[in-house]
Amino acid sequence: MKADAFIAMEERLGAHNYHPLDVVLTRGEGVWVWDVDGRKYLDCLSAYSAVNQGHCHPRIFKAMVEQAARLTLTSRAFRNDQLGRFYEEICDLTRSHKVLPMNSGAEAVETAVKTVRKWGYRVKGVPEDQAEIIVCRNNFHGRTITVISFSTDDASRDGFGPFTPGFRIVPFGDIDALSSAVTPNTVGFLVEPIQGEAGVILPPAGYLKAARSICRDRNIVLILDEIQTGLGRTGKLLAEEHEGIEADLTLVGKALSGGFYPISAVLSNSEVLGVLQPGEHGSTFGGNPLACAVAREALKVLVEEGMIENAARMGDYFLKGLNQIRTPGVREIRGKGLMIGMEFHPEMGGARPYCQRLKEKGILCKETHEHTIRFAPPLVITRETVDWALDIIRSVIEG
Ligand SMILES: *Cc1c(COP(=O)(O)O)cnc(C)c1O
Repeated sequence: MKADAFIAMEERLGAHNYHPLDVVLTRGEGVWVWDVDGRKYLDCLSAYSAVNQGHCHPRIFKAMVEQAARLTLTSRAFRNDQLGRFYEEICDLTRSHKVLPMNSGAEAVETAVKTVRKWGYRVKGVPEDQAEIIVCRNNFHGRTITVISFSTDDASRDGFGPFTPGFRIVPFGDIDALSSAVTPNTVGFLVEPIQGEAGVILPPAGYLKAARSICRDRNIVLILDEIQTGLGRTGKLLAEEHEGIEADLTLVGKALSGGFYPISAVLSNSEVLGVLQPGEHGSTFGGNPLACAVAREALKVLVEEGMIENAARMGDYFLKGLNQIRTPGVREIRGKGLMIGMEFHPEMGGARPYCQRLKEKGILCKETHEHTIRFAPPLVITRETVDWALDIIRSVIEG
């Protein structure tokens, strides 16, 4: 079957909630993917940073197949021999005390919201149903009703009300605004260390550190959504390390499975997760042995194969290279590790035409928030491939 036939099938039968580039992929290996016509591309999106370890990593594949042949799902009504080991390994790696495994990123966010509310009532002493959580403008935390209730993106919200109350929105990167938004009923501050979907927006240096101390002083749970920034993407295991802080709750997902399976987790560095009692929260698939075996290997691969250090090195090199080829149409190039945004001036007509041309020349990336291209290849990219990509990017943005 030809690419056009696959595309027509999707368009006819699927809900049109995405606007993908018209490339039909059939195979992936490391940083490369191939389409149904046999053309090869560099993947510069990495499934929104879910395939940090590279496509179809052989060790993760092996762990998945072996576990799939043994035991896949028990539900949490019974115990399994993978869950405890997953807890121990992820806690050691992230210096966490407790873990709650879920499936998607949005579920991890929902879990954090529920947990800090309960913590607010049971531990902090906030009056019932009065808890408030502070979030940032232009955030992206997922797609459920509660999560979009505190989104500021019209496309994500329009027509989906009524919304969940209990959230206050402050500008990202503005520490005074955060401080002024705190009330006696504030239980949590939920923030992305770098706003990914908003266009790779970095806060001013020192922002997270200052947020950390406000949360400590005012008895508020600091929740870092590291679903995109975490697991090596920014050149550290967790982006919080760039500012030398530790969140109370950390959310991870995406690359926790290296792209093999939906797995997310809430990690707790305080006793916040301790407030949950049997029956108060759960998920049929959360913490299943297949997910745990995959996540254990995905984490090992990240560390043992030096991917985090490579992300730091190749990220610096890529960013420098992009800055050398910038044209007057480029407004800003920014990033940390292999999470890089190239923003065009609004009069350049948006980033999508550039993504189209990059695709024709063998690089897949996606515009984010209209004027920005995000470059986020798998963390296994080599210097040689970065050089190859820079040549192509130069020809496209100059052309
Ligand atoms: C992708 C993402 C989510 C949502 O994850 P899903 O698995 O799509 O539900 C939440 N927060 C951030 C920062 C993300 O990048």
